[in-house]
Amino acid sequence: MTRDPRYDILFEPVRIGPVTAKNRFFQVPHCTGMGYLRPRTLAAMRGVKAEGGWGVVCTEYNSIHPTSDDAPGVHATLWDDSDIRANRLMTDAVHEHGALAGAELWYGGARSANLYSRLPAMDVASLPNLAGHPFQTRSMDKTDIRDLRRWHRKAAIRARDAGFDIVYVYATHGYLLANFLDQVMNTRSDEYGGTLENRLRLIRELIEETKEAVGDRCAVAVRFKADETIGADGVPEYGERREMFERLEALPDLWDINIADYSLEMGMSRFAREGALEPYMSWVKSVTDVPVVTVGRFTSPDTMASQVRRGITDFIGAARPSIADPFLPKKIEEGRPEDIRECIGCNICYSGDSLGVPIRCTQNPTMGEEWRRGWHPEKMERKGSDARVLIVGAGPSGLEAARAAGARGYSVMLAEATRNLGGRVPREAALPGMGEYIRVRDYREGQLPKMPNVEVYRESRLTAEDVFDVGAGHVAIATGATWRRDRFDGKAYVPVAADGAEILTPDDIMDGRLPGGPCAVFDGDNYYMGSLMAEALADAGRAVTYVTEADSVASWAQNTSERWRIRTQMMQKGIGIVTAHTLIRFDGAKATLQCGYTGRTRVIEARGAVLATQRRPNDDLYHQILARVEGDASRLPFSLTRIGDCEAPSIIAAAIHSGHRFAAGLDTSPDADQPLLMDRMDVGTPSVQTASQVEPARTPHADAAYLETLLRYYEEEVGGIAYFEALAALCEEPEQKAKMTLLAEVEAHTASIVAPLLQRYGLTPRTAEILRAEGMADARKGPQDWDGMIGHMRQVFPGYIADFERLERMAPPQDLPVLRRMTEHEVIAIAFLELEARGDADAAAPLWRFLSGPVATPGAA
Ligand code: ADP
Ligand code: SF4
Repeated sequence: MTRDPRYDILFEPVRIGPVTAKNRFFQVPHCTGMGYLRPRTLAAMRGVKAEGGWGVVCTEYNSIHPTSDDAPGVHATLWDDSDIRANRLMTDAVHEHGALAGAELWYGGARSANLYSRLPAMDVASLPNLAGHPFQTRSMDKTDIRDLRRWHRKAAIRARDAGFDIVYVYATHGYLLANFLDQVMNTRSDEYGGTLENRLRLIRELIEETKEAVGDRCAVAVRFKADETIGADGVPEYGERREMFERLEALPDLWDINIADYSLEMGMSRFAREGALEPYMSWVKSVTDVPVVTVGRFTSPDTMASQVRRGITDFIGAARPSIADPFLPKKIEEGRPEDIRECIGCNICYSGDSLGVPIRCTQNPTMGEEWRRGWHPEKMERKGSDARVLIVGAGPSGLEAARAAGARGYSVMLAEATRNLGGRVPREAALPGMGEYIRVRDYREGQLPKMPNVEVYRESRLTAEDVFDVGAGHVAIATGATWRRDRFDGKAYVPVAADGAEILTPDDIMDGRLPGGPCAVFDGDNYYMGSLMAEALADAGRAVTYVTEADSVASWAQNTSERWRIRTQMMQKGIGIVTAHTLIRFDGAKATLQCGYTGRTRVIEARGAVLATQRRPNDDLYHQILARVEGDASRLPFSLTRIGDCEAPSIIAAAIHSGHRFAAGLDTSPDADQPLLMDRMDVGTPSVQTASQVEPARTPHADAAYLETLLRYYEEEVGGIAYFEALAALCEEPEQKAKMTLLAEVEAHTASIVAPLLQRYGLTPRTAEILRAEGMADARKGPQDWDGMIGHMRQVFPGYIADFERLERMAPPQDLPVLRRMTEHEVIAIAFLELEARGDADAAAPLWRFLSGPVATPGAA
């Protein structure tokens, strides 16, 4: 298929200072919960976006100095030179697909409490911590400002050295630079405060200094908000912003524009539609010739093309649409926009950052799993057998399981009890503001007919007997869950109904069974459902009191940044709110509420009570199937798996992930003891590690675990010689052959360095013959072409460094000189791979250096 010419404009290259983006698709900086902590996970994820066609792929907030840390939030860092290597993993992955990589340099100011570094945060004045911690900032003096400028410059240079093409000056979102600009917050009386020009001074200096430091190689972008303060949605209050912008407009190479109200900028679909920033952008492009990027949760190529054509923006900025579908640009380019997996605006992705865990996405189960599980949003391994797959239930988990198993080529039968596909999704999407959630179903329902190997059976409620009769090789039970009519008191589910009164649940309300008069809604779930029940009943004209045992409305929804708007909306709809109380009794006329702090009770009038508490898995079918073989699953003629809410009720994202995991795992034999690759922090090269960093954890004597590991690693070096020799034999280019041979020599050299330790401890390795055979077998398993070999090694070698360093920590002191050389051989191998990937003519230099270095001898025992 070819691209619709209406969208050609989206694929025009755009110049940004010294670099050029290949198209207008721009993944703006977005947090991931990976940052400095999980660099390989991060690099693989960003690389997939570049592969999916994004012309620019940026980092998350990338701290320039330890006086700006956001712990327990996980940001990126450019604090020292060891960060260059970690960041380079990402830039290399992005460059591999012809995209530009951008680094958002970040200094938090009053929004960072520095819980990790314990250094005082600094800001324009002495301010309270704006994230709610009981810490205040130090008011910056002239020395502090000079320090900040130096740190920013150094971080910019590190960003350049890490391979970034765009470096940001980040002057919005309530962080330090935004506060310098702010007329009210900036109370300084020196040349950095007072007049508009004075308040602009620091930003101006940073733009100029960043350009001077890296401007020949990297573009300099500024992130800046278009409006002054939070007004009504879509009604901007510009204040001084336009004048500020006019004074700076020509300085950077790119403007990244957002707005004062983060809850609109990051708007949930429940409260904000696609392109919500457009009213704020009206003047921006008329003031500058520098290219502009802005966001708007764009998923429609028509909206995107229209925004560019009408001069609202030059780039289609996206965080969430690129998370839900990393291949969005490619799908437009290939003329199949109907395949786009559209973001539903649920902000589950953002909850990863709020909770300090790797990002996840409701629509895209592969998000965050690219490295540790090797999942890809568009490609799946071919099926592992000809077994037929039966999936019972077509909610989100069943639909995703069917789609993904179908994509693997399995013959799939999807049986659904009702006429409609989607399970909970269409029911919840009918609740107030939830319409876009239907995209979870629509994307999958749209994909299934494209796969002739997937058959869908509607109105087919299966029994255990039916399941056996189908004769499938694999069966997934995806029968969902049902809202309960009781509540959990901390230890057990206890009843609330008294005198035979009827308790309603969200299932009843979604079925259209509304209570007759005033009602109480009890939220024991604390995500969105309780508030939706209250809203749905209020919209139907009922007087509603919302009761929660938490201290706030929809408390978990603070992780999705949704809670504040939920409460505002509930208050606007006249819903009564009672927090820190539990609905303990309902008799049909009155509801009794108990305070969680004092235990006191109070009674409110209520003709109906709706409980949004927990859900009961619909797992009868699963147990009935197992009952036929006395619970012994190994006697079943098929593999049996519960997935989604039937296994463990949860959010929709978990059901989708569960369905995908089922399909991806079919006919594989995962290691139950080590189901995931573990990403570890890159702790730098041995040369930057001081002895004091290594020594405290070291045991004084060689223990059994140490000796066993030492022997294993030695054997791997010997096996490695044969491994690289086998790869050399596969290479046709003489130069490539020589490089592989050189790597084999590095392995041999390392083995010879380590051998004396084996003698010291009387360790006997397996025969060279066995070890060589293992090495050759490993070589056969991996990629057989040059790019594949290099790519594979770049993926796996960094993990070995952590292993070697762990061995160093286990070792007695006298062995360290040898072990450090062993670690070093991996470091130089990685250095070679990185240079090779960049096409450096001198890529083999680190290998030669290592080979000509000293042969470490163990210290005296
Ligand atoms: P999940 O979130 O885990 O995907 P849902 O509750 O959204 O679960 O969806 C479960 C789906 O399973 C519903 O569409 C329901 O109609 C269907 N279902 C339940 N029991 C059966 C059954 N025995 N046979 C076929 N479909 C079933
Ligand atoms: Fe969109 Fe939700 Fe995915 Fe975030 S988690 S990208 S909001 S679908």
